[in-house]
Amino acid sequence: MTLRYDQDRRRIICRWEEPTRIVMNKREGTIKRSRAISVKVSETGKLNAKDTRRHQGHPMYRHISLFNNKLRKMNFFPNQDGYKCSVCGAEDNVNPHFDVNGQNIIWLCKRHQHASPKVDA
Ligand SMILES: [Zn+2]
Repeated sequence: MTLRYDQDRRRIICRWEEPTRIVMNKREGTIKRSRAISVKVSETGKLNAKDTRRHQGHPMYRHISLFNNKLRKMNFFPNQDGYKCSVCGAEDNVNPHFDVNGQNIIWLCKRHQHASPKVDA
């Protein structure tokens, strides 16, 4: 599972893989299917009410809510500037990612966003 805020789409996106059983050529197997839920965030950092109602009951939602609270506490909204990629130090297109285990926010540019911390869903 990865958790990040996308500044272009103004959404917190939670992505994870779920094992899914499939039958192909009469043989049964398991593939990992990529799943995601996302919640729109207002300029002042409020989670969108409609998205919240839709996803509130989802087990991943609490991570989104926690991540949003952290970002609000550090006054990330509405400026969203002045952060550097923790891998290369770039200042352009740097988005926050959330490390659920360490409860840390990690800043990563587009080039390094695959370094996002992964957590077993
Ligand atoms: Zn980078």
